[in-house]
Amino acid sequence: MDYPTRFDVLVIGGGHAGTEAALAAARMGCKTLLLTHNVETLGQMSCNPAIGGIGKSHLVREVDALGGAMARATDRGGIQFRVLNARKGPAVRATRAQADRVLYKAAIRHILENQPNLQIFQQAVDDLIVQGDQVKGVVTQSGIRFYATSVVLTAGTFLGGLIHIGLQNHAGGRAGDPPSIALAQRLRELPLRVGRLKTGTPPRIDARSIDFSGMEAQPSDDPIPVMSFLGQPEEHPEQVSCYITHTNERTHEIIRNNLDRSPMYSGVIEGIGPRYCPSIEDKIHRFADKNSHQVFLEPEGLTTHEIYPNGISTSLPFDVQLDLVRSIRGMEQAHITRPGYAIEYDYFNPQDLQPTLETKVIHNLFFAGQINGTTGYEEAAAQGLLAGLNAGLRAQEKEGWCPRRDEAYIGVLVDDLITLGTSEPYRMFTSRAEYRLLLREDNADLRLTEKGRELGLVDDQRWAAFEAKREGIEREMARLKDTFVHPGTASAETLNDKLSQPLSREQTLLDLLRRPELEYWDLAHLAPGELPNDPQVQEQVQIQTKYAGYIERQAQDIERVRRQEETLLPANLDYSRVDGLSNEIRNKLSGIRPATLAQASRIPGVTPAAISMLLIHLKKRD
Ligand code: FAD
Repeated sequence: MDYPTRFDVLVIGGGHAGTEAALAAARMGCKTLLLTHNVETLGQMSCNPAIGGIGKSHLVREVDALGGAMARATDRGGIQFRVLNARKGPAVRATRAQADRVLYKAAIRHILENQPNLQIFQQAVDDLIVQGDQVKGVVTQSGIRFYATSVVLTAGTFLGGLIHIGLQNHAGGRAGDPPSIALAQRLRELPLRVGRLKTGTPPRIDARSIDFSGMEAQPSDDPIPVMSFLGQPEEHPEQVSCYITHTNERTHEIIRNNLDRSPMYSGVIEGIGPRYCPSIEDKIHRFADKNSHQVFLEPEGLTTHEIYPNGISTSLPFDVQLDLVRSIRGMEQAHITRPGYAIEYDYFNPQDLQPTLETKVIHNLFFAGQINGTTGYEEAAAQGLLAGLNAGLRAQEKEGWCPRRDEAYIGVLVDDLITLGTSEPYRMFTSRAEYRLLLREDNADLRLTEKGRELGLVDDQRWAAFEAKREGIEREMARLKDTFVHPGTASAETLNDKLSQPLSREQTLLDLLRRPELEYWDLAHLAPGELPNDPQVQEQVQIQTKYAGYIERQAQDIERVRRQEETLLPANLDYSRVDGLSNEIRNKLSGIRPATLAQASRIPGVTPAAISMLLIHLKKRD
C-alpha cells in the first residue's frame, strides 16, 4: 500500500546518525519520518557504553551547538565523567563520559518522542523507490510504500552484516539484531562504489565474578564535568568508578597459540578493521614487543552487573576468549555474559558524496554514519545531523550547507571523507584538524550556534542561553580592559607575589592576563563590578585572552586558504587540457573532481605547483 501521508524527509535507521538526522530535519519544521527495525533499539550503543573522548567530544559539542541530542542524552545517562588532557592546552582537552546504556537510550527516545514534526515507524526498509536519477521514497518489508522529497540512509553495520566468532559466522546487524540483506542487495544495483569493512567488540563480564581489590579505581572528576552547553551536573545520575587492569605474558601466549583460529588471521574476514580500535589479537600481532596492555573495566550501567572490558575486543573462538579473560589479574573467576565478536558490513565510498552528504548519482538521497566508512557514535551523530539538515534544506528548496574545515570538526570529517575517501574505518582525532586552536570543544557554540539558529536548528531556550553567554563574555572582557592596576597600590601588591617581576607601570587586567604567571581567577576580583557567575564565561575569557596571539595567526592562515576555497573548479573542467600537470595528478583530479581549489590542494600528491597550474588555467579560461 501507499502510506497516505507524504513526508518531507524520511530517515532509515534509528542509530546515532539516524536519530540526529531525523531530529535535525524535524527541528527545521520538515515533516519527518524515522523508520527503523525496532523502536526499542533507538539510540542503542552497539559497542562501548561511552561518549566523547579525544577528537570525539569536539564533534559531540558541535552537534550540541547545532541543537542535537547526543550531549543532552549523555548528561542524563552519564555515570562517570572526566576531562582528558586536562593539563594540556585547551585545543586537545576532551570530555568523556561513561554512559548507562539504558538511561542513554531512554533519554534519546524521550527527545525523539517529544520532537514536533517527527513520527517514528518500526519496520525494516527493503527497497528504495528510485525514478531516473532521483529517489522518491522507500518500501518496507511488508510492502508499505512511503514517499518523501529526501531520504537519509543511516543503516550502520547492518548492510550485509556478517558476525564472526572464531571460524564460525552468521548473518546479523549486530549481536541480537537482524542484518539488512534485501536493502544491501538493492543498493548494490545502484552505481555506487561498495566495499567491506569490519569492527569488533569484547566479551562482557559479570562484575560479581571480578575481584576489583587489586585494581586502580578511576572515579569521575571533581567538579563533575558536563557534556552539553546546557548541561548541569545535577542532571547526572549516580556516579560510579571504572577500574584498570592489564593483560600479561600468559594472555599474549594464549592469543598467539590460537591465531590460526582467528577469522582475521585465517583469512575468513575480508573487511579492514579500525586501526585505532584494534582487536587484542591485532595488538599482540602488531606490537609483539609489548608484554602488557591496559584494560579498562567500564560499568555498563547502574542497574546491571555487566562490565565492558575496554581493550580486549576479539573475534577468537569462545573457549579462547574465556581463557584469555581468565588469565588477566582480578578476572581469574570471570563469567562471560556475552561473547566478543567481529562484524563485517557494506560501506560506500564517501568520495561519491557531495559536501552535503547527498550521493552524487541519486539526487535527494543522503548517506550518513558508519555506511560512509566511519566508526564511532560521535562521527555518526555528526554526519547524521548534517545529512538530516541538508535533506530538510532540499525539501524546503534551499541551498545546502556544510561547515568549512576552519569552522568545525564536522567540516574536517566531511572534507576528509569526500576528498580522500577511506579504506579503513575512519575515526576523528584532533590531529586531523589544521586549525586546532580555533576548533576547541569549549567554543563549539560560539562557532556554530548562530548558524544553527539561522538554519532553524536551535530552539528559543538554547538561543537565549547562548546569547546570555556571548554577552557575558563581551561584558567581562570590557570590564578587564577598562580596569588599570597601578604600581604601589594594594591591587598591585596582591599580584606581585605571583609575578616574576613586580609591576613597574600601569597595566590593564586584560594585559596582565596575557602573562603566563597569571590566571583569570588571580585577577578577576580586582575589577569593579560583579564577577560573572557562569563558569563557561570565565573559561572563555581566560582562553581567548591567553591564546589571543596564536588565534590571530590561525585566523590569518585561514584567510589565505579561504581565498582558495572561494575559487571554484568547474564541474566540467577538462584536466587533460591543463598544462603542466603530471598524468598521475590529472587522473586524481578527474577521478575526484574537487569542487574548489582548496579541496584540490588537500588531495594527497597534488602539489603546490599543480595548484598554480590550475590557477593559471582558470585565469586563461576567464
Ligand atoms: P548504527 O548505530 O549501527 O545504527 C543503524 C540503525 O539502522 C539501527 O537502528 C538499525 O536497526 C537500523 N537499520 C539498519 N538497516 C535498516 C533497515 N533496512 N530498515 C530499518 N532500519 C534499519 N565504534 C567505535 O568507535 N569503536 C569500536 O570499537 C566499535 N566497535 C563496534 C563493534 C561492533 C560489534 C559494532 C556492531 C559496532 C562497533 N562500533 C564501534 C561502531 C559503532 O557502533 C558505530 O560507529 C555507530 O553505532 C554507528 O552509528 P550509525 O547510526 O551509523 O549506525
